[in-house]
Amino acid sequence: MRKLFLIAAIGVALFARDADKDHKNHAAHEHGKATLNVAAEDSNVNAILESPLANFISFESEPKTQAEKDEFAKMEAAMKNGDFFVFPAAAKCKLGEASVNADFGDHGDLEASFDFVCENPDKLSGMKVELFKIFPNLGEIEASIVTKAKGQKAAKLTAKKNEIKF
Ligand SMILES: [Zn+2]
Repeated sequence: MRKLFLIAAIGVALFARDADKDHKNHAAHEHGKATLNVAAEDSNVNAILESPLANFISFESEPKTQAEKDEFAKMEAAMKNGDFFVFPAAAKCKLGEASVNADFGDHGDLEASFDFVCENPDKLSGMKVELFKIFPNLGEIEASIVTKAKGQKAAKLTAKKNEIKF
């Protein structure tokens, strides 16, 4: 009985520490890893990427030098393109809005949101995530996918296994 209680107490302590560490971002800050939440409903696909900045640029604090400002601007432009999300051509998906927000710090994070509209949602069988090609420091994405037909599921994406099926 006493042992059980101890285990429960440790569990609570660990949880509290994690919650504190992650308060500014839902995803844990681990270089090389990112999270992606995809929701597809009818003709709309929304994707939200959360990641340490270090996966995309060579620093995490606020850009100060011109070189850092240039590097950040280049990354931001590439991010807003959203062309690393590749849908079946027949689905005719186009990026509507994209937003990129950086939270600079000792360990800065980035959150980017993308709204796609697809002309032929019947052909929307899934999507490929080709972020790994553009940002080689990114090794793994924990993806969560919600679709009307299949509900919620999870997928681990890498450069070699970059396809999400809806
Ligand atoms: Zn960091």
